[in-house]
Amino acid sequence: MKYISTRGNAPELNFEQVLLAGLAADGGLYVPKTLPRFSREDIAAMRGLDYPALAEKIITPFVSDCIPQDDLRAILAETYTEFRHGAVAPLAQIESNQWVLELFHGPTLAFKDFALQLLGRLLDYILERKHQKVVILGATSGDTGSAAIEGCKHCKNIDIFILHPHNRVSDVQRRQMTTVQGDNIYNLAVQGNFDDCQAMVKASFGDQHFLPDDRRLVAVNSINWARIMAQIVYYFYAALGLGAPDRSVAFSVPTGNFGDIFAGYLAQQMGLPIERLIIATNHNDVLHRVMMTNTYGRQPLAHTLSPSMDITVSSNFERLLFDLYDRDGVALAKLMQRFDEGDISLSESAMQKARGLFSSHRVSDEETCQQIASTWRECEYLLDPHSAIGVKAAQSSDVAPEIPMVILATAHPAKFPEATKSAGLDQVVALPEHLHDLFERSERMEVLPNDLAAVQAFIASNIKA
Ligand SMILES: *Cc1c(COP(=O)(O)O)cnc(C)c1O
Repeated sequence: MKYISTRGNAPELNFEQVLLAGLAADGGLYVPKTLPRFSREDIAAMRGLDYPALAEKIITPFVSDCIPQDDLRAILAETYTEFRHGAVAPLAQIESNQWVLELFHGPTLAFKDFALQLLGRLLDYILERKHQKVVILGATSGDTGSAAIEGCKHCKNIDIFILHPHNRVSDVQRRQMTTVQGDNIYNLAVQGNFDDCQAMVKASFGDQHFLPDDRRLVAVNSINWARIMAQIVYYFYAALGLGAPDRSVAFSVPTGNFGDIFAGYLAQQMGLPIERLIIATNHNDVLHRVMMTNTYGRQPLAHTLSPSMDITVSSNFERLLFDLYDRDGVALAKLMQRFDEGDISLSESAMQKARGLFSSHRVSDEETCQQIASTWRECEYLLDPHSAIGVKAAQSSDVAPEIPMVILATAHPAKFPEATKSAGLDQVVALPEHLHDLFERSERMEVLPNDLAAVQAFIASNIKA
């Protein structure tokens, strides 16, 4: 499998190279040059496979020229033992034809574990083979940092440095990062805000001279193709469980950077019968606005009850745009350049294609709380605020009632207790067993000034030989 840039002017890469690459040299994102397609019979033959076996079927075509089958199988087997549910991604029914796909049984209680547990293992496998070591550098306001740390804590060839804004992430989220043991893990609490952290990461990727000669930076945000790839699997898993390929299903996806729902789009392009994909946003509605008004533009960031979806721009939307523009990299490079300068509109045909595939819905904090309360009242099922947005969007959609509707539950409610409280519920949501003593564990972090040179000096002096 070869990978190409959405902006048409960067070298083609193989899987090993794309795993280590961040943005393409032309500023674009990497996507597969051709997508594997599964026939109806192929999909029917996947029925009854357990999660790791299904993952092997879906992922093999993307990696097979770089990773021998037996090695891939071993990596996948290890990856999903980290999930504390026999089904890995179980479905829970909440309405006559509505299911919640629980993606929060991984170590950090959010769906990002699906991608990052695999990414850490794939990276370490490839690096071991190449006798190389790398540095992972990322900024987090919450879920990404802990999932990356958990995913990389056993990696022998990776030092991981995660920046978070000092005193500005929730106690649960901070402790999920700072209590993980491992001498290759560094939590840097920066005396600034999340944007300051992100700016330092971006500057460091742009000029890596502060690193020793034998190291480079690797990205763990969703510009990394392997994260998207890992997420395709659970769309197949859920649809098969509900009768695919004989029945179509619809998905409602709480969306921020468009990584998760883009994986659903790929599943559909690979042959899975998906009737519709619903983009569910919070007040930060850049994607809902483009669907409604064909204007793609930035608006100020709002802080909501669903912080993991608080974004102004959805970076992975570029991957969809590439397809909507018939994979014309030159056209896309021009479009994205205009977007850097201000609001843009999509071509008539691109917009038409987008509306044929996706619906969208924006959900306020107030509606989020109402949904948490009403789902609890009706079936004693407690939703986290992100998942509640998915349910609300599903219930507001015009998908025919005979189509099974799957809502992606992206986080465990114990992670966001403020939302449960705001919804007027006084259930004490206990953390799952493996985290019950989270608040007694000792924390390790380094408080650093909001200063690029200080952060880079800290990284350089702590990289292990
Ligand atoms: C990251 C995250 C999202 C948004 O996912 P994208 O791939 O950025 O669209 C939604 N919910 C939770 C809990 C998350 O951590």
